[in-house]
Amino acid sequence: MAKSKFEYVRLFEADDRCLPNTWIVVRVDGKGFHKFSTEHEYEKPNDIKALSLMNRAATSVMEEFKDVCLAYGQSDEYSFVFRKETQAYSRRSAKLSTNVCSLFTSAFVYYWNEYFPTSKPRYPPVFDGRTVLYPSNQNIRDYLSWRQADCHINNLYNTTFWTLILKGGLTPAEAESKLKGTLSGDKNEILFSQFGINYNTEPEMLRKGTVLVRRKVPVALPNGGTREKSQIVQEHVDIIGDEFWNTNSHLLTV
Ligand code: ATP
Ligand code: ATP
Ligand code: MG
Ligand code: MG
Ligand code: MG
Ligand code: MG
Repeated sequence: MAKSKFEYVRLFEADDRCLPNTWIVVRVDGKGFHKFSTEHEYEKPNDIKALSLMNRAATSVMEEFKDVCLAYGQSDEYSFVFRKETQAYSRRSAKLSTNVCSLFTSAFVYYWNEYFPTSKPRYPPVFDGRTVLYPSNQNIRDYLSWRQADCHINNLYNTTFWTLILKGGLTPAEAESKLKGTLSGDKNEILFSQFGINYNTEPEMLRKGTVLVRRKVPVALPNGGTREKSQIVQEHVDIIGDEFWNTNSHLLTV
């Protein structure tokens, strides 16, 4: 096709290709989900339907982007880890973050009805997206540990905060001041001694978040035999310690 005299403006576009041979993480996070969750009557502190919808949207991203080897989600955020060698979109940072974020957001709306059958979104939800590079295996593990530790800290706080309100009859302001300056042990103690709740028996999805990985699972064939098929599975497990990485050593080795 003949080029127009306007073609030169393409040169204003910056080259944003990610460094080769480096872990690429795209993280999306809901914009103003404190308000979104209230306006859509999420159960507090944790709405399981909403978390399941997040997991469904993230599964759509992994179905589309085969080079995502692992995803980790909690609250209103999801992180997608691309294998180090990925050539998706020639590793262009904005292409990766915008395509992941856009697909995640539209899948969140597309599947809304399966998780909230009696309501429609009251306004279009927004997620932000960013691309971050991690050069070493230790860095990528520390990144994921950081997100899971964040999940733990926030969930313990939110569980105690909402228990004080919903079961203890405190106002949000009273609950906030009661929790001010408390350590993890103090919150565990409040939950146990005042409400008989053992935090460690709360559902794993809430305490640990959700890991999505691809696993070979057997599927039945019409002739009675079985065949192995790669599937995206959800696990609610610790990814801070070594155990997960020892049993899934293929994730970090090329
Ligand atoms: P920002 O736009 O800066 O991200 P935000 O309001 O989304 O602001 P976050 O720090 O991302 O703030 O926190 C998300 C908030 O969304 C949580 O604090 C919680 O109130 C709410 N939330 C997200 N998921 C759930 C859920 N499954 N159940 C209940 N509340 C949720
Ligand atoms: P890429 O993912 O690289 O952007 P693409 O298939 O989206 O690939 P584009 O160069 O963006 O390619 O072109 C968009 C194409 O979508 C058009 O060539 C046309 O075929 C189709 N298209 C977009 N809008 C319309 C429309 N309103 N009516 C008919 N066809 C449309
Ligand atoms: Mg934020
Ligand atoms: Mg948010
Ligand atoms: Mg968040
Ligand atoms: Mg196009």
